[in-house]
Amino acid sequence: MQSVRIPDRKQIVDKAKGAFVGLAIGDALGATTEFMTPQEIKLQYGVHKQIIGKGWLYLKAGQVTDDTEMSICIGRAIQKSKGWNLSAVAEEFADWVKGRPIDVGSTCARGIRNYILHQTLEVKPSRWSAGNGALMRMLPVALYTLGSEALLAQYVVEQAHLTHNNPLSDTACIFFGRLLHEAMMGAELGLGPLLMHTKSFVNEYPDFCYDPYPGKSSAFVVDTVQTVFHFLFSTDNFEDCLIGTVNQGGDADTTGALVGMLAGAVYGVEGIPKRWLKRLDSRVYSEVDELAEYLVDHSPVLSSLKD
Ligand code: MN
Ligand code: MN
Repeated sequence: MQSVRIPDRKQIVDKAKGAFVGLAIGDALGATTEFMTPQEIKLQYGVHKQIIGKGWLYLKAGQVTDDTEMSICIGRAIQKSKGWNLSAVAEEFADWVKGRPIDVGSTCARGIRNYILHQTLEVKPSRWSAGNGALMRMLPVALYTLGSEALLAQYVVEQAHLTHNNPLSDTACIFFGRLLHEAMMGAELGLGPLLMHTKSFVNEYPDFCYDPYPGKSSAFVVDTVQTVFHFLFSTDNFEDCLIGTVNQGGDADTTGALVGMLAGAVYGVEGIPKRWLKRLDSRVYSEVDELAEYLVDHSPVLSSLKD
C-alpha cells in the first residue's frame, strides 16, 4: 500500500457530504426511470437529466425513496444511540415501515416484519436475498467507521443481515464501504486508486466482473454492482456518471443512489450540479448534510481530533 497524506477534516467532511447528498440526488433522479428499459427512456425523455419526479411511484420533483430513507434511518440510529446499536437501527426501520413509506422492497419488508414480530436481528441465510437492499443503505456505516476496516466489515454486515443474509450482498457491502473510505481519505486522488482496487476485487470475485458491461441493471446485487462500476469508471465527473446510470433504467433509483454516493465521495459536493441540489427535497438535503458531518466527525479518524 502506498502511503497517502491524511486529508484535513474539511476535505473529509466535504467528501462525506458529497456522498450522502449524492446518494439522495441519485435516488431522486433515478426514480423517474425505475423499471424502464433504455429504449423506453429514450423514447419518452431523449436523455433523462433533470430531477422531475414522476416515474412509477408518481413522485414530486426532488422526492426520494427507500434508498435514501433507509440510509437516513441508519444514520439517525447511530446519532441517537451515540454509537453503533443494531436494535436501534431495527427500531428506526420498524418506525419507518409503520409510517407507510412510498416504497419498500419485499425482502426489506419481510426482514423488518420479522423484527417487529420476533425481535429478530438476523434473518436466515438465503440465496433469494441477493438483492441490493442492504447495499443501498450502507453509507452511514461507512462514514461512521472511517479509519477502521474491521468496524466497517462488522457493522455493515450486521445491518445487512437485518433483511438480507447472502454472501454476494455481504461482499458488495464491505467492498463499497472500502471504496468510500478510500475516496474520503485519498481526497485528492480521484478515481485512480479506486479503479486499481476494483480490478483486484473483480479478480477475486469474478461474479462482479463489469468489463465488458453486461448491460443489466436489475435489483440483483451483481447486476447493480456491475452497473455502478461501469458508469463510475467510464466517466470523469459526477453529472455524466449519474446521467449514464439512470438512463440505463432497471433499478435506476438504486443504481443512481449508489453511483451518486461513490461519485459524490470522489468529486465532493462542488462536483454536484447546482440544478440538482436546488431540486432535492430541502428537508432531505439538510438532514443528509447534517448526518454526514455528524457521522464522519464521530469516526475513528476524526473523533480523535475532537474532545
Ligand atoms: Mn428506491
Ligand atoms: Mn430501487
